[in-house]
Amino acid sequence: MTAPLSDTKLSADEPLFLSDPVTVLPGIAEKRAALLKTLGIHTLEDLLFHLPRDYQDRSKIHNIADVKVGDKVNLCGEIVAARSLSLRGGKNMALLEVDDGTGRIKISLFGRGFLVRSALRKGVRAFFTGTVGEYKGLSLQNPEYEAWSEEERGGTLHTGRIVPVYGLTEGVSQRMLRLWIHTALEKTGASVEESLPPSLLEQLQLMPLAEALQAVHFPDNRDRAEAGRRRLVYEELLVMQCAILQRRARHAEEESGLVHDTEGPLLQKLRRSLPFELTAGQQKAVEAIFADMGSKRPMFRLVQGDVGCGKTLVALHALTAAVDSGSQVAFMAPTEILAEQHYSTLVTLLAPLGIQPALLTASTPRAAQLRAAIEEGEVPVVVGTHALVQPTTNFHRLGLVIIDEQHRFGVGQRDDLMRKGCSPDILHLTATPIPRTLALTLYGGMDISLIPDMPPGRMPVKTALVPDAKKEDLYGYLRDEAAKGRQSYIVCPLVEESEHFAELTPLIDHYLELTGGALAGLRCAMLHGRLDPREKEEVMTAFKNREIDILFSTTVIEVGVDSPTATTMVIEDAGRFGLTQLHQLRGRVGRGSIQSHCFLLGRPTTPEGRERLKLLRESTNGFEIAEADLALRGPGDYCGARQSGLPDFRAADLLKDVQLLEEAREHAQTLLLEDPHLKKPDHAALARKVASASAIFI
Ligand code: ADP
Ligand code: MG
Repeated sequence: MTAPLSDTKLSADEPLFLSDPVTVLPGIAEKRAALLKTLGIHTLEDLLFHLPRDYQDRSKIHNIADVKVGDKVNLCGEIVAARSLSLRGGKNMALLEVDDGTGRIKISLFGRGFLVRSALRKGVRAFFTGTVGEYKGLSLQNPEYEAWSEEERGGTLHTGRIVPVYGLTEGVSQRMLRLWIHTALEKTGASVEESLPPSLLEQLQLMPLAEALQAVHFPDNRDRAEAGRRRLVYEELLVMQCAILQRRARHAEEESGLVHDTEGPLLQKLRRSLPFELTAGQQKAVEAIFADMGSKRPMFRLVQGDVGCGKTLVALHALTAAVDSGSQVAFMAPTEILAEQHYSTLVTLLAPLGIQPALLTASTPRAAQLRAAIEEGEVPVVVGTHALVQPTTNFHRLGLVIIDEQHRFGVGQRDDLMRKGCSPDILHLTATPIPRTLALTLYGGMDISLIPDMPPGRMPVKTALVPDAKKEDLYGYLRDEAAKGRQSYIVCPLVEESEHFAELTPLIDHYLELTGGALAGLRCAMLHGRLDPREKEEVMTAFKNREIDILFSTTVIEVGVDSPTATTMVIEDAGRFGLTQLHQLRGRVGRGSIQSHCFLLGRPTTPEGRERLKLLRESTNGFEIAEADLALRGPGDYCGARQSGLPDFRAADLLKDVQLLEEAREHAQTLLLEDPHLKKPDHAALARKVASASAIFI
């Protein structure tokens, strides 16, 4: 049984537009608007694209005569008695009795005494959804409720139907969201612009946008909800694919790039000075890069490979070719700490070539002087964070930008650079192992070089779970390793104690406890985001110089920190980290030729947590782990993925929707073949969406 949703009183009002702020809705003022902001909801469009994360089927109504304790039920009946009880401590409750013609049941709603004089007064017919308990006979405690004949609305949103379940934030309830979304749907219905061309809608039998939104939030049945969702996903993916393909097409025609010499003297010197052969994967990547760098078309390439596969060395070849050709090189890292790390690596690697790199970060002394030197072209290689390409830094002849682990740098900044009149070659490096189909799509605008192999002689890191009872043995092991001149990391999820995560191990406490106990006498240090950059650099330099046996750290070491004599990685509360993150952490050891170990501590509290640790023990292949990681996540749970640089989708679930993704890519290709600039009238709305999406996708 599904009640009608139409309401004459509201729809008679002025229509609203998707671009309106949420405060145009009744019941949303500043305070609630601020709460919604934490969900990323600013406008009615955001609100309508806050899609249900699940549904509950409350359309089947049970007879009171049939219900038993423990049943989850939906009841509908008349309130035959209603009173408010005062409780201790100024609290109150509503106590109702409901009759559906087959029997009677008691209903109590704590803190809701006022309802007996308003929505749930005697004589009203209402729906209730909850679990049957016992309180002076059968009862429902704090069920979800909805009056059948509420004066302000004609239908039901919360029960007696298939009900949407949303992701919430504190202070915003399911009831509120349902009501707001319902109102927004009604009032914007007529103004929602269709974005898919009519021919595609027809060919693919997709719902029009307005209908799809209605179907997703307030479906008559599950199939309609899914059909609505597919329509929204398809559109999102099609828009993304069009943006990527258009960008690619534009890029293919560019001839504004510098033609670099890839046979220069420094490069030959580099080749001669290498103590080892490049792996086949490195060799292929370097060849592809040189083909790009030697042509007029600016390079836009991603080098993807697991931690330790030797991406830095590949980048070094590109860098050397650029310097050989008189270009300046900007090397960007996502954080200051990594910029400093890269800087010191490059100082060592470039010394034999007689190249002196510079470091430019927020904490660089005499930055103005350095900037002037960069502008004069006196500095060939600058390492820094993304601040490097901001307007205050001007290069004399910027020919190559190398970007380490920062997926979101890309289109926007690249366009900024081009506006400044230079089209440097751009080389991204990433260790984020994104499954192949996704990589092709997400980075569809870039050329990709995959390095599938590892330098020879690497031994896979051995991974083990350590039960609490074995902790003492572990600390003994760390002491033995230290005695052999080998180093260890201990990673904690938090810096300091937090009331929100009372069960997690804080770094500072752990450090104090162990250095005063099980690890007393060893050379220990801490590394975390609260240290100032000077302190961080001192700690890292000391670790590199093997003046520290054990480095206590947060995940700031996740990427980049590099010491070949570090052989042991201990991860506290390991179940709390994402799989990819654990893999990255583990990649900090096993970088030399000594057998390394990764020890995972803390018992995971969820089945997914256990599954993650199991996978990590069984595989050292980043790509396998990434596939598994995506598969383990529930739909809509992209927190970890977001960190790893996947764009945020409103409707699509990249794993579940791979099929749609491929269809969308194919259709985008056909569409652009026929109308490359989406100039046809039928494509106008789509073109607008594509234009606003192209800032997001590389
Ligand atoms: P990534 O940046 O991909 O994580 P790095 O470039 O930091 O990896 O390389 C990891 C380590 O492997 C470095 O110490 C580097 O000198 C070494 N290395 C890189 N390429 C080779 C190779 N072809 N043969 C042997 N060792 C290599
Ligand atoms: Mg690296």
